[in-house]
Amino acid sequence: AFVVDDVSKIFVGKNQVQALANIDLRFRAGSFTCIVGPSGCGKSTLLRILGELETATAGHVHNNLPESRVPRSAFVFQDHGALPWFTVLQNVAFGEHMASVGKREREEHARHWISEVGLAGFEQAYPHQLSGGMRQRIAIARAFATGSPSLLMDEPLGALDAQTRILMQEQLVELWEAERKTVVLVTHSIEEALLLGDRIVVMSARPGRVKETIEVPFGRPRTVDIETDPEFTRMKQDIWE
Ligand code: ATP
Ligand code: MG
Repeated sequence: AFVVDDVSKIFVGKNQVQALANIDLRFRAGSFTCIVGPSGCGKSTLLRILGELETATAGHVHNNLPESRVPRSAFVFQDHGALPWFTVLQNVAFGEHMASVGKREREEHARHWISEVGLAGFEQAYPHQLSGGMRQRIAIARAFATGSPSLLMDEPLGALDAQTRILMQEQLVELWEAERKTVVLVTHSIEEALLLGDRIVVMSARPGRVKETIEVPFGRPRTVDIETDPEFTRMKQDIWE
């Protein structure tokens, strides 16, 4: 779905920062890529370039996602981004606004996605009345509701408590398996990357480069004991070496 071809990014300012250097990556349609790497290695910058929120200083990004009224990429950020003066229903339907479907249909879709992420019954609640995990679900419902073929997520579960996080991880994989969107997810957690991704891109910093890409074997059980599973231990060592 995306081809990143020799992309570099330099931020010019008082101090010039080279955020990305010679990134070459391909993202297959329907794949789930997790990006890990130290703070400041350019993960968010890469995601923003993929989503056309930022332009590369050098190199090219091609995407063959369909041109349509639907945004090509939907974003989910760490800080949920739910609009506080809108109800849950309005927040999710707002994402669909961009899909320019009729009002009734939009509301129906919004209700569907609200229920898919486990927020049925909270349609009329306001974000401040919900927990952090529930607010994050709004963001995920909204991203799916846009109908975008790709989903770009920047630490979407980073702020959640461990238990909610595990629930949301499972839900995300289920939704991805059902919808087969092209997902790119940035995370600080290698465990999360191994659990969610079918491929892991490991980046290094200063300037941000792709250090390694790891294909996660297909059909591997999605829930394993990450403390003791030998496969996980091996991959984790591979990543940190
Ligand atoms: P983290 O894990 O902390 O979120 P990251 O891997 O997402 O880090 P980026 O936010 O992409 O890293 O930043 C990469 C580098 O580019 C950093 O050195 C950062 O200071 C710099 N940078 C990012 N955005 C800008 C900007 N708008 N202007 C100037 N420098 C920037
Ligand atoms: Mg970041």
